[in-house]
Amino acid sequence: MRVGLYPGTFDPITLGHIDIMRRAAALVDKLVIGVAINRDKGPLFSLDERVRMIEEECSAVSKATGMEIVVHPFENLLIDCARDVGAGVILRGLRAVADFEYEYQMVGMNRVLDNSVETVFLMAEAQHQAIASKLVKEIARLGGDISKFVTPAVARALYDRFSEKAPGGQGDAAAR
Ligand code: ADP
Repeated sequence: MRVGLYPGTFDPITLGHIDIMRRAAALVDKLVIGVAINRDKGPLFSLDERVRMIEEECSAVSKATGMEIVVHPFENLLIDCARDVGAGVILRGLRAVADFEYEYQMVGMNRVLDNSVETVFLMAEAQHQAIASKLVKEIARLGGDISKFVTPAVARALYDRFSEKAPGGQGDAAAR
């Protein structure tokens, strides 16, 4: 059985991520979604929230493709996480040239750490290629339409989170 590890922050999961997951089904029998805790990035959603959203979205991908999907939070080295979950391949999405430099370095360094795990890059469909969680959050924060970038459930979670944070919202300490 071929096991692949698809790591990321998924803050939150977008249609770009889902596109890559669907494509992964052509390569692996089981896909482990490695959710990086990533405190440095100061995620908008907690690890639990991100995991829950991924699980909800992945059940449709699993049904459509027949690929088993498991969500696995991790905080250790990516290459150790791959070993922990028995993955022989790491899957990454590649968006623009901007992703390349960083990914190139990561593969090079990971190869030194463990040469037995290959990294494979996948590209999303044209309409999903430019989607980035960071920009989706910015558009949602400013009240823009994010329906072409995330699923309805994730869009709701984003708008809810920003309305909590807005002045007078539930998350605003001054309003209480
Ligand atoms: P990270 O913090 O590792 O960049 P992300 O959640 O932003 O985590 O992305 C996880 C993976 O999904 C990365 O390999 C990233 O390049 C890929 N990815 C994200 N959005 C897209 C997209 N729109 N098209 C293709 N790949 C994508």
